[in-house]
Amino acid sequence: MFESLSDRLSGVFERLTKQGALSEDDVKTALREVRVALLEADVSLPVARNFVKAVQDKATGQAVTKSVTPGQQVVKIVHDELIAVLTGEGEPGSLKIDNAPAPILMVGLQGSGKTTTTAKLAKRLKERQNKRVLMASLDVNRPAAMEQLAILGQQVGVDTLAIVPGERPEQIAQRAKTQASLGGYDVYMLDTAGRLHIDEALIAEAAAVRDIVKPRETLLVVDGLTGQDAVNVAEEFDGKIGVSGVVLTRMDGDGRGGAALSMRAVTGKPIKFVGLGEKMDAIEEFHPERIAGRILGMGDIVSLVEKAQQTIEAEQAEKMMKRLQKGHFSMNDLRMQLEQMMKMGGMEGVMGMMPGMGKMKGKMGEAGFDDRMIKRQIALIQSMTKKERANPAILQASRKKRIAAGAGLEVQELNRLLKMHRQMADMMKKMGKKGLLKQMMGGMF
Ligand code: GDP
Repeated sequence: MFESLSDRLSGVFERLTKQGALSEDDVKTALREVRVALLEADVSLPVARNFVKAVQDKATGQAVTKSVTPGQQVVKIVHDELIAVLTGEGEPGSLKIDNAPAPILMVGLQGSGKTTTTAKLAKRLKERQNKRVLMASLDVNRPAAMEQLAILGQQVGVDTLAIVPGERPEQIAQRAKTQASLGGYDVYMLDTAGRLHIDEALIAEAAAVRDIVKPRETLLVVDGLTGQDAVNVAEEFDGKIGVSGVVLTRMDGDGRGGAALSMRAVTGKPIKFVGLGEKMDAIEEFHPERIAGRILGMGDIVSLVEKAQQTIEAEQAEKMMKRLQKGHFSMNDLRMQLEQMMKMGGMEGVMGMMPGMGKMKGKMGEAGFDDRMIKRQIALIQSMTKKERANPAILQASRKKRIAAGAGLEVQELNRLLKMHRQMADMMKKMGKKGLLKQMMGGMF
């Protein structure tokens, strides 16, 4: 899967990472090529455009990390952005199947791989989660499809509902529901009829069944090879009957992979699984990191940049501590600490980590000391000039006004920040003398 896209991108980035210094033009050219590669992989135009723009913004805004080349850094940004585009809510491959028997409705066009996927998922639930599963085919127009599910059921050792000729899909759904309850099943999966195109009869039938069983999950199965069409089908199904997740099949083929990249951005629905072949084990949970890794094929560079960034953070922390011990505590230092706090989960996150502070959780917010305040403080510091950050003592009324206005806040708030900074600087100095600082900072970084 993703071979051609992956080849294209690695070509672009190999050239980029070989260069020592990168000009803005180099990055622009590379990103233009990335955009073409995405479009050729059948990623929808707005998604490709947003993707490239996000990468460009991040690439220009980021300070170059020592010991990696700018090209390598761009690869990391592209990697992170791929993950962002691919990530939906919830754990990869998780299905809501509590409250037995949990109904799962399988929908999709004919030939998308719906029946195969139903059996694959049933097998997984049985083997990995030890669930008792009942499957039923509702495809009354195609007896062969009903038999196919029965055969697959036998093959994977999962029960299927007995076929009663002449029954309507709604009746089969009702019978499956009853049997699942009486028979002590954990999950029952309904393989609805597929047609070649979405039509009213198909939607009406799926909706009727949905209203009878009230599915915990409605999984749409789409053929990944159909690229942008798969995304259109998903939008339509979701609009008409509502889906909770998508399974992309045939991702083993030389698909262009674009469907995967556009799916979440366009439909807002998470891809839960990918089908990777005809065999009953050929299904995988959809892991955005793994997929991004496969698309980019540059895992080494990604981890190299991650390590370099960590080293830089550690070096910065070390430097900061040396300054603090000498009694220097600039606005930049404060900002670094505030940013670090946000990274660690904000105020609540930090409090939760400090022994004895757990019970303070929630109280800080009441006192007006919360994440929003931290963000406002960071904005105020960002609004200062370099000189002002190094030496806040020079802040007179006019400077204060300008800084507060720049951050869209009141001077009062800036005064509070300055007071806090002074108190912290004093405290740091005292702690530095007693050697306590190192201990505390050790926990922070
Ligand atoms: P349905 O009409 O949607 O129920 O489709 P089927 O489940 O009958 O599948 C149609 C064909 O696609 C069958 O030959 C399957 O073996 C094949 N198929 C399903 N999923 C995959 C997949 O992930 N990869 C490949 N290569 N073939 C698949």
